[in-house]
Amino acid sequence: MSFGSAVLDAIETKKFGGELSEGLIRDVVEGYSMGEVPDYQMASLLMAIFIQGMSYEETLALTRAMAESGETYTFPECVDKHSTGGVGDKVSLTALPIVAACGAPVAKLSGSGLGATGGTIDKLESIPGFSSNLSEEQFRDQVDEIGLAIIEAGDLAPADKEIYALRDTTGTVDSLPLIGSSIVSKKAATGAGHLLYDVKRGSGAFMKTTEEARELAELLVRLSEDLGIDASALITDMDNPLGSAIGNALEVRESVLLLKNERVPEDLADEVRNVSTRLLELKGISDPEHAVENALFSGASYEKFRAFVSAQGGDADALEDLPVSAEVSEVKSPRGGYVARFGASGIGSAALALGAGREKKGDRIDPGSGVEILVKPGDPLEKDQPIARLYGERAAERAEQLVLEALEISDEPVEPPPAILDSR
Ligand code: URA
Repeated sequence: MSFGSAVLDAIETKKFGGELSEGLIRDVVEGYSMGEVPDYQMASLLMAIFIQGMSYEETLALTRAMAESGETYTFPECVDKHSTGGVGDKVSLTALPIVAACGAPVAKLSGSGLGATGGTIDKLESIPGFSSNLSEEQFRDQVDEIGLAIIEAGDLAPADKEIYALRDTTGTVDSLPLIGSSIVSKKAATGAGHLLYDVKRGSGAFMKTTEEARELAELLVRLSEDLGIDASALITDMDNPLGSAIGNALEVRESVLLLKNERVPEDLADEVRNVSTRLLELKGISDPEHAVENALFSGASYEKFRAFVSAQGGDADALEDLPVSAEVSEVKSPRGGYVARFGASGIGSAALALGAGREKKGDRIDPGSGVEILVKPGDPLEKDQPIARLYGERAAERAEQLVLEALEISDEPVEPPPAILDSR
């Protein structure tokens, strides 16, 4: 069957809620990757899928076809984690050196950020000299020698990249089978043997409710296991930013504090310990909670992070005092009470306005910019108490407005929300 007739057949079948065969899905993905299936036909099929949904078997077939559309790696001994994206999410920067220090090797391919949730690569590249471009041989050697390497994802699952770009402009992003297959195709191409998904839910996340996050978590785990990856998932809160730092260098600074076993906000400390423990469990390391505490207390986690940064050309000595913007201002509370919520979505937009993220692909970020929040849900507040520090020269007034709008104050005491909501 030609690619042209395959895509027409797929559109006609899906339009009436029929089931697409594995072969048909593979032909359409291949045809689209080769430029033989035009955008208008692919967009029509994606909209039919958005409306009619896909069975689990169809979703698995789509995942496999996209995973195999380009280069694939295999790191069966390695662990990896994937976050669906959150504001102030520095769990990869912290949990991965911890598990590497506990003897679980990490080979991670990561992306640059788009929108309010920064990417791990942008955060690491705020360290002077750090490079995320290693050859495959350098990457493998570093995983063997240091037990931790993180590089930019490049051309993994290229079909997903193209289909995602089309979804972004055709109103077909928020479809569970399309999201699940998109995420897992990249993870399957990365090839780590043990994988933990951190599915965020809340105002600053893709999934707004715990129920939606649970559904996505179940799909991600099932697809991964059927593709030979040993997987599990956590559902974590993203109604409030994680920790206190939002912005690239600011987040590395907070990560360094955590790795040196110094004080950081409890939500961050809890989540990082939980993710690290779950990764070690997946890898079959005994007494994982104790191993995590020991790696933090002994300094081994921070040493591992320094060794990883140096191996990728970064200045490990600069970590202690990473440069941030000298343009700093404080935002003050308009009244007294208790912090009910410091909305992640609004804080993420404030960091974006200051230059910490990209509104569109290719935008230049300011690595030293961002927001440091000074109060967390449950904290008592006085009028004019500083609630946030803004770093950066761009749009500071707009950022201040967004921070003030993000703060919800209650007259009654507030119980802080748990960091971990559920697991799969
Ligand atoms: N992240 C992805 O990689 N793909 C999606 O479809 C949504 C979020």
